[in-house]
This record gives sequence, C-alpha cells and structure tokens, in this order.
Amino acid sequence: MDTHPLPAVAERTRVHDPRLAAHWRLALAAITPGARLLFSDAASAAAPMLADHFYGEMLDDPRAARFLSPDQVRDRLKPSLQRWLLELLGAGPDDVDAVAATQETVGLVHARIGIPVDLVGRGARLLKGELQAAIRKAGAAGHADAVIEAIVGVDALIDLALEAMTRAYDISREQAGTIDASYRLFSLIQNVGTERERQRALLLAWENTLLYALSLEQPPAAAPLLLSRSEFGLWFTHKGMASFGETPETRRVAELVEAVDTGLRDGLPQAGNPALRRALVDETRAVVAAIRNLLTMMFDGIGDLESGRDALTRLLNRRFLPTVLRREIQLQANTGRTFAVLMIDLDHFKVINDSHGHEVGDRALQQVAALLVQNTRGSDYLFRYGGEEFVVVLGSVGASEALAIAEGLRSCVAGAPVALSDGETLMLTASIGLALQDGHPDYERILARADAAMYAAKRNGRNRVVVATDDLPEPPGVVQLRQR
Ligand code: GH3
Ligand code: MG
Ligand code: MG
Repeated sequence: MDTHPLPAVAERTRVHDPRLAAHWRLALAAITPGARLLFSDAASAAAPMLADHFYGEMLDDPRAARFLSPDQVRDRLKPSLQRWLLELLGAGPDDVDAVAATQETVGLVHARIGIPVDLVGRGARLLKGELQAAIRKAGAAGHADAVIEAIVGVDALIDLALEAMTRAYDISREQAGTIDASYRLFSLIQNVGTERERQRALLLAWENTLLYALSLEQPPAAAPLLLSRSEFGLWFTHKGMASFGETPETRRVAELVEAVDTGLRDGLPQAGNPALRRALVDETRAVVAAIRNLLTMMFDGIGDLESGRDALTRLLNRRFLPTVLRREIQLQANTGRTFAVLMIDLDHFKVINDSHGHEVGDRALQQVAALLVQNTRGSDYLFRYGGEEFVVVLGSVGASEALAIAEGLRSCVAGAPVALSDGETLMLTASIGLALQDGHPDYERILARADAAMYAAKRNGRNRVVVATDDLPEPPGVVQLRQR
C-alpha cells in the first residue's frame, strides 16, 4: 500500500527558520544554572494548577470554547499543555531544533483549526503570569536576583515558542488562502472553454450593436450603448473580476472598458459628423480588440485550472481537499449536519499493472472513478488522493446512510470487472475506510481516522468497508499528528 506523508510534514520543512534557532540558543546561553533550576522546579510543581487555570480561562471565553470540548480538555489538552511546557522549559542548546519544530507543528495545527492568533497570544500571556507567580513563590527570600533571572528566562522562552508558532501559523494560513482562492476560481468557472467563447461572443455582439447604432442617421443616446452596461461588461464586473482576481490584465481590461465608455459619452453626441463618426468607430474597435486579446490571455492563463481536476480520472485534485474539509467542518459546526470521509484503496493493484500493463491499470482507474461518480450524490466531493486511492467526502449524512453509500461503492466496484482487449475481464475490488466527523476541528484527524479504517479493511481481508473507531491502530508510515 502506498503511504503518503500528511501535508504537515512537507509544510514543516518550509517553516523552519535558522535565525530563530540561533536566537533561541543565545537565549538559552544567557540563562544561569541557578535560574534554570528555579524555574524548572517551579514549573514542575505548578504545571497541573497552571493547566487548570489556562483551560479554565479558555473555556470561559466563547470564542475559544468553540474549539474545545470539556472532555478533550480534560483527557488530552491539559496533559499535553503540561508536557509542552516542561519540554519547552527543559530544553538545552542541543534540543533547539526539535523544540522549535514542536512549536511549528503546534502553529500548523492552530492554523488548520483556525484558532485566532490573538487567543494564542492571550494563552502565552496567561502562562507567563502564572509562571511568574510560581517562581516568586518558589524563590527563597533573599534571592531576588535569581527570581528575576528565572522570570526573564521563562519570558524569553515563551516568546520564542510563540514566535515559532506564529511563523508557522502565518505561512500555513497564507498557503491555505491561496488554495482557497484558486478553488473559488475553479468552481466559479467550471468550464473554461465555454466561458471564454461565450464572453468573446458577447463582446462581439456589443460591438455589432454599436456599429449598427452608428450607421443610423441620428446620433444615438450613449447610455444604452455603454460597454460597462453590456452583458459582457456586467459579467466582467461581477464574475470576471471575482474569478480572475486583481491582476495586471484584469486592471487593464477595467481601464479599457472605462476608456471605451468615456469615448462614447464624449463622441456620440457629435456622431452626426461622418468624419468624427468614423474616428469614433476606429478608436472603439481598436480598444475592443485590445480587450479581446487580454480576455484571451486571461482565459489561457487559467486553462490549467483543469489542474483542479486530476488528468486521468477527472476527479478533484487532492490539493483542494483541505478547502473542502475545512468548509464541511465549519458547516457541521454551524448547522449540525454531519459529514463523512471515505478512504478508498484498490486491492492488489500492483498485480494488475504487472500482469496487464500500466495502460490497463489506467483504464481500470478511470472506470473506478466513473463508478464513484455514478454512485454518489451531486453534493459529494470525489478526489483522487493518490495513485489508486480515492477520497469521497459525503456531506449531510448520518452513520447508516454513509455506510450504505460506502457499501454500495464497494459492491459496484466488485461487480464491474474491467474488460480487457482479448475479451477477458479483470476482477477489481476496493478496501474502504469510513470515518464520520466526530466534531474535531482539525481536518487531518478525520483523514487519519479514515486511513486507519482503510488499513483495517486491508488487514481484515480486503474488499470490505470498515468504520473508524478510536481504538484502531495507526497505519504504518503515517506520521502521527501530535495532538497538543
Ligand atoms: P493493496 O491491496 O495492499 O492496496 O495492494 P496494492 O498492490 O494496491 O498496493 P499499493 O496500494 O501499495 O500499490 C499501489 C500500486 O498502484 C502501485 C502502482 O503500481 C499502482 N499505481 C499507482 N498509481 C497508478 C497510476 O496512475 N496508474 C497505474 N496504472 N497504476 C498506478
Ligand atoms: Mg495504495
Ligand atoms: Mg492498493
């Protein structure tokens, strides 16, 4: 079975900042052994109380509580906050890279979940306050210097942790934003080719209307002839700009449309004069030709939006999976509608390639993709997740409905053998892991659960559906997301 590192791993390598690591080492070097001993002891003694206070505050704030359930806080988050703190305060110069990587992972998790960055800042401030109090309490009377050194050291370490988290957070949000934007574009202009021809035709239709109006004896009124009011102009304002975004081309088109309209407002009242009329026609046609060229360029530039779909199977590209899952998680939080994820891996696919060739394998993949499309609902999302792996996101489903859909997909794959050129057929089966959204705000969690269920389906004999439960073992090779 293929293993695929979860996206966080690739992201992490991009967020590491050597300068921050160097500052970290300097800060550690400045901490005296006495101060370190003082804050380490104080933190160890105070950690449970500190975690109680921290999450007490967070649960009290509706904005923060949205991301937390009391069970999670008790079972997972409080212990992991304590571990995090002691690791941070206990790290020496040799641990800097590892401890910085931990903070980066935390930042990426915060970004995926969408925790507002000011809440993270508040958390750090609360911790600093509590730690200061604990250090003062632990510091023996008469050792004021050691107390101050310990407080300064702890402050620096928490600031460094926060900086590393924020950096990763920022990079991750920016990437997610770019992908979200390209997804919007992709879904707005589903058929790039048709849209391009339609808009070119509308622009031509407007030009013809103008020429006809100018062929009449009487100079026509400008208002009904303005390009910005034409169907093309309206499309450009409402959809074109939104789809293509602010680019030099879109800005130029907007300027040219404005220039055409200004020319018409100024020129049409004098269009009774044949020479002026001809000049107006020539000028307008030149500008419209420029708009047409820009339009072609803009559409050509996104011809590759097709890359939103996988070239072989025409299913969605997996890079849009985070966008879709984040939205489903949000939708579930807002409406209570649960969703489910199916992780589908074809069984013994290597054998098919090895004995019948890659082309037959490709055809089999296309056939499976078509079966998935035919046997899911229009509202479901189908992704090619990897080589012979697919992910289906089922919106607004309960457990039994999701299981029925998964079972239906399994049986239709098993029941539709691939036809070979020699008249023979090839049996194909799939193992499916099904995970229902459990309210966790991180989309990687539901993917990991579906993946674990899929691996269980493989282990249990393949050609079956397994529903994810919390006690399934992690599949091999998957980098576990540390739940902090
Ligand atoms: P398992 O039942 O354990 O999943 O066995 P498997 O042979 O399917 O194992 P695994 O999932 O690791 O192998 C995936 C194979 O799928 C590897 C490769 O030969 C094949 N494959 C991956 N992508 C493509 C593709 O785009 N086209 C073709 N024809 N084959 C592919
Ligand atoms: Mg596989
Ligand atoms: Mg396989």
